Amino acid sequence: MQNITIAIHGGAGTITPASMTPELEKAYKQALSHALDQGYQVLEKGGSALDAVEMAVVLLEDSPLFNAGRGSVFTKEGKHEMDAAIMCGKTLEAGAVAGVRNIRNPVRLTRAIMEHSDHVFLSGYGAEEFARKYNIDFAPEEYFYDKRRYQQWREVRDTDIFMLDHTDERKFGTVGAVARDANGDLAAATSTGGMTNKNYNRIGDSPLIGSGTYANNKTCAISCTGHGEFFIRAVVAYDISCLMEYKGYTLQEACEEVVMDKLVKFGGEGGLIAVDGNGKLALPFNSEGMYRAYRRGGQEGRVSIYKD
Ligand code: ASP
Repeated sequence: MQNITIAIHGGAGTITPASMTPELEKAYKQALSHALDQGYQVLEKGGSALDAVEMAVVLLEDSPLFNAGRGSVFTKEGKHEMDAAIMCGKTLEAGAVAGVRNIRNPVRLTRAIMEHSDHVFLSGYGAEEFARKYNIDFAPEEYFYDKRRYQQWREVRDTDIFMLDHTDERKFGTVGAVARDANGDLAAATSTGGMTNKNYNRIGDSPLIGSGTYANNKTCAISCTGHGEFFIRAVVAYDISCLMEYKGYTLQEACEEVVMDKLVKFGGEGGLIAVDGNGKLALPFNSEGMYRAYRRGGQEGRVSIYKD
């Protein structure tokens, strides 16, 4: 299984050993490890990169630890609105949703849109109607309730603050996965609840093809996490792909330029995971930490949180 590769993330931000308990750190590492291994097994059995990224993201959406699916943060109205996207590097087909509510696994809905719709991007009620048609699971409001997230929101709900800097901690708990399968095909998927206390109907970078999510066999597959408004304006994922396609940069060079230089100057905090056509990986971030993990063919998986 030469060059099969998968990487996942569970968000970036002010994640330091001081802000973590040993129990919480263990729980994060276990959840990341589990999603990584399940995604890897898909690739090991000869499955597609698309199936692998979908599998890994579903498992991260099911964990209340991450800001996606079950653990999605609260909007200004005290609700959960989720954004997600998936993209196939071989065909450049993509599916995306914005502002969906009560969908258990938004990434499954993006896959259904990619495969069964002539459209790429559905939002709100139309996306939910589409989900009903394709038997995508819904979950009641209580399923998305998490005490920790609720408290985070209560502290800022009467303000215009729409991130977690009220505690001096900025954490962006979006989840994502990128993979290269045994055929050399690439795929990327990202899923998020957005940012705590975000304006209702606010859409972040995660579902925007080219900003938070992108895959192209010619270059790379990318899933981002960070302050979405900056990632949208910097068109981060496509920018990296373009540097590779038009300027001949390696994945590493392109990531370095965009995440560690351009975004930093711009004020955009966060990071991303990326894999190129040869299965080479880059996991750059300009924040304190990023929940991340990767595994290559024939090797053990590696899970990290802080700067190496
Ligand atoms: N990028 C996401 C957004 O702005 C947040 C995150 O990465 O956690 O919606």
